[in-house]
Amino acid sequence: MEIIDSIARMKERSDELIRCGKSIAFVPTMGFLHDGHLELMRIGRKQANVLVISIFVNPTQFGPAEDFGEYPRDMEGDLSKAKRVGVDFVFIPSLEEMYPDGFQTHVAVEKITKYLCGISRPGHFQGVTTVVSKLFHIIKPHLAIFGQKDFQQLTVIKRMVKDLNMDIEVIGIPTVRESDGLAMSSRNHYLSPEQRRSALSLKKSLDMAHHMCSQGEKDATKIKKAMEKLILSFPFTEIDYVAICDPITMEDIDTLEEQSLVALAVRVGKTRLIDNALIGASIRN
Ligand code: AMP
Repeated sequence: MEIIDSIARMKERSDELIRCGKSIAFVPTMGFLHDGHLELMRIGRKQANVLVISIFVNPTQFGPAEDFGEYPRDMEGDLSKAKRVGVDFVFIPSLEEMYPDGFQTHVAVEKITKYLCGISRPGHFQGVTTVVSKLFHIIKPHLAIFGQKDFQQLTVIKRMVKDLNMDIEVIGIPTVRESDGLAMSSRNHYLSPEQRRSALSLKKSLDMAHHMCSQGEKDATKIKKAMEKLILSFPFTEIDYVAICDPITMEDIDTLEEQSLVALAVRVGKTRLIDNALIGASIRN
């Protein structure tokens, strides 16, 4: 496994691989790797000749009052996990090289970033699409793998790739969960044991939505209200949003259609957690 911290070196290595006819799978991460990240890597490993990951805590996707400074980091642990799943290249660029003085170009996906997390985290998705575009230009992957845990992010990246004619196949991987259902997240590390119990309210409310839908309930407002009630029955919880929307346009829906995304963001103490589930058939491309 080769660790690369310079953009020029990473570009050189990717160009060499492409010249030799190798296919490249890429998994961007912010590090503090858990089994959700590793699952993305295992899939990348199988689907291409070479697996590149990046570890970069991207400041432009954090708001001024958010946790950029405290975001958990464990480079040594991350490198040994990456090595174990067979990563070929770990790209760890510096902040200074990614955002040098004078940096002023951004990539923005317009409509679908206005909903859900886009409301409570203004500028977040522009930070994501800008950094992912930069990483795509540097690494030039054939395949990029993202988690459905961040469903809106996955949809935004797919839209960007399509709109900007990038020759990259974007693959979404189902959310990897702890044995009790909590979606794995680097931010789970912030939770106290009591908060960790309350964090289960997210998955429980999604299960309830699924159950209500399977019992024939079609009224999105009724389902959302029941979810909110369940979440707020747990201590430390504060709802950012509970939404039922179209999984492509992210627009709210009133009556449950075949494919609907149930998505939520909940603060448990100071920690903001997100989760989602699709109700109905599989994801459309
Ligand atoms: P992050 O390090 O949080 O930026 O996440 C890097 C990638 O891992 C993103 O594509 C996430 O959607 C994905 N990811 C994070 N948590 C999970 C999870 N529990 N299951 C599947 N993918 C995940």
